[in-house]
Amino acid sequence: MSTTQDLGRLAGKGYARGAQGPPPAAPVGVRGDVRGSQLSRPVGPVIDVHVHVFSPDVIRQRDSYLDRDAWFKMLYTDPKSRMAPAERVLAEMDATGVAKSVIFGFAYHDQGLCRETNDYVIEVVRAHPDRFIGFACVSPGEPGAVAELERCLDAGLAGCGELFPDGQRFELAVCPELDEVAGVLAERGIPVLIHANEPVGHDYPGKGRNTPGPCYEFAKRNPGLDIIFAHMGGGLFLYELMTEARRVLSRVWYDTSAAPFLYRRDIYSLAATAAGPEKLLFGSDFPLLSPLRYLTDTEDLDSTIRGAVFGGNAAAMLRLG
Ligand SMILES: [Zn+2]
Repeated sequence: MSTTQDLGRLAGKGYARGAQGPPPAAPVGVRGDVRGSQLSRPVGPVIDVHVHVFSPDVIRQRDSYLDRDAWFKMLYTDPKSRMAPAERVLAEMDATGVAKSVIFGFAYHDQGLCRETNDYVIEVVRAHPDRFIGFACVSPGEPGAVAELERCLDAGLAGCGELFPDGQRFELAVCPELDEVAGVLAERGIPVLIHANEPVGHDYPGKGRNTPGPCYEFAKRNPGLDIIFAHMGGGLFLYELMTEARRVLSRVWYDTSAAPFLYRRDIYSLAATAAGPEKLLFGSDFPLLSPLRYLTDTEDLDSTIRGAVFGGNAAAMLRLG
């Protein structure tokens, strides 16, 4: 079973508990022993669409960056907030059976810092083209966003994000400069990944105003753009049950990043039922969380849907050969 309709039917049947499926597939594209090898594996290669990387220089000089970006300061003042260079990401991918990861740096407000972070992503994607897909961070409200985006795309990056509307000080609901960036992406058939968060619940560093409402408005204004809303879209997927919203959100995907911190495990089956399992993409937010946590939490999902969420959907939306 591989079509969207088939996946939809499975989701509608409430596949979350005790579903039967084909025997677990071996991890693809990984080396050595895989941590959690007693777990059943998703069918097909695992693709993680949400991983942050920092250059060894930035990690070494972490403190000096705290005063260069307010959002960075909020997220990384705590020394326990982990930062990882590409080699550490590769080691985790190998250890947990992830074949490919979408990597990006940090979406600073300053365009120059974005350029710096993008240079590192370009460098490591060139060094490991079989393992990494790179996205570019740009600051939409600052001069030079489109030029920086085009530079990165021409250098081989394959998307834009993770953008932080709050940290980069733009409004997703109304932002002509962002629409200019979105226009370039739509023209090239390249996706954008945008941070989103739920409008209720406790506060935490990184939680802002980018809730389902503004996300919806952005999707509505950009019908030709492939959009990934991070962190389950802050719950936006639920509104795909509205016929009207389903149409507006037809080119929207939701990544799972940070879901274990925010929701019960039922979130995966609920989202697959509401939005369709073809619209969910596995994202770990590593080094915040290991891919292993998501693999463990989804062990009882139907194997076809699990395979789609953990790689099949990303391969299709990123047009990986
Ligand atoms: Zn995020």
